[in-house]
Amino acid sequence: MISRKQVVDLLHFKAGSGWVLSFYLGIGVYKSKAKAYEIEAKDIMKAAVGEAGLSDDDRAKVEEDVQKILGFLKMDFKGRARGLAIFASGGTGLWQVFRLPVAVPDRCVVNHSPYVLPMLKLVDEGRRYCIVVADKTKARVFTMYQGEISERTEIFDLVPGWHKQGGWAQARFQRHIKDAANKHLKHVADTVFEFYKGEGFGHLIIGGAQEVRTRLFRILHSYLQRTLAGYVTVDIASNSSEVLAAARRIEEETETRRSQKIARALLGDSDQGYMTVTGLKDTVRALEKGRVHTLVMVDGEHIEGCLCGDCGGVDVLGAKTCPYCRKKVGREGDISEHLAVLAVHQDAEVSYVNKGAGLEAKDGVGAILRW
Ligand SMILES: [Zn+2]
Repeated sequence: MISRKQVVDLLHFKAGSGWVLSFYLGIGVYKSKAKAYEIEAKDIMKAAVGEAGLSDDDRAKVEEDVQKILGFLKMDFKGRARGLAIFASGGTGLWQVFRLPVAVPDRCVVNHSPYVLPMLKLVDEGRRYCIVVADKTKARVFTMYQGEISERTEIFDLVPGWHKQGGWAQARFQRHIKDAANKHLKHVADTVFEFYKGEGFGHLIIGGAQEVRTRLFRILHSYLQRTLAGYVTVDIASNSSEVLAAARRIEEETETRRSQKIARALLGDSDQGYMTVTGLKDTVRALEKGRVHTLVMVDGEHIEGCLCGDCGGVDVLGAKTCPYCRKKVGREGDISEHLAVLAVHQDAEVSYVNKGAGLEAKDGVGAILRW
């Protein structure tokens, strides 16, 4: 999964006079053969390189990046991902591959900095779930994002001593079973905490028998205890679709509650005392002044406005010049991703809420302010 830090680092990455090739591929069932991806990838990269108007020298460098990406696609790159994002700039040593949990439109952009807009939605940690399923000797960890689940066996490498067979060395041959189980659960708790610190997630779901769940919860770090979204009764040997089905119910309830809570705070219908704005006009003004703590948008809702092709600044429909660089702006059907970029640049959080919580009537956008 993608961390906020990775995306922010990419946002700030500048290749100077060099070029970065940003490549997105949606992994659809209709293109089930690697060959089909290669052909598609070749076409869209060729078009993007052609449009960039490069010098012969630069073109040769970018062609190397194209070949490297095509080479990558020849391998088995799909795994459980539904999309792929690759940022390559051989000239500056940049090579980053992200397997995305959701499909993205195929796209290739050649520019002096990475094109990261499509990734911004994926860094909303509030919508990322970690599921830990444990019994007295074994444990498994999954991540879930908008209905996609992946098992994360690699995270056990974060804490030494874990055996491939699914248990810790100390726990496996212990004569005093209770002690061993406690030690095991402590390891599980440590592992999940390391994972939380490294990658981040908004909500934790604990699965297993009730006794184990309760014991595990008690020894979790207090940060993690606060992220508990719920418990599910699943067996350690369950397949991932069984874990997903159980976890989805908790996700739906949690997302509805979270959306309602954020919308209430935004719409002033709460006594939580937040300073907020709603609607596109007030939100862009707050962004311009650097006042936004959390930008909130309705997931899937398009926000019409004006966009500056030069610096990425945005304003309401009818605006003539960019509030950031004073150049001419043009009408744009959906500026939601550009709003997210501006927010992340200011170190603000970006949060997406479900439809139906009441924010649609306010252009689908609002913000919780710092001051
Ligand atoms: Zn501008």
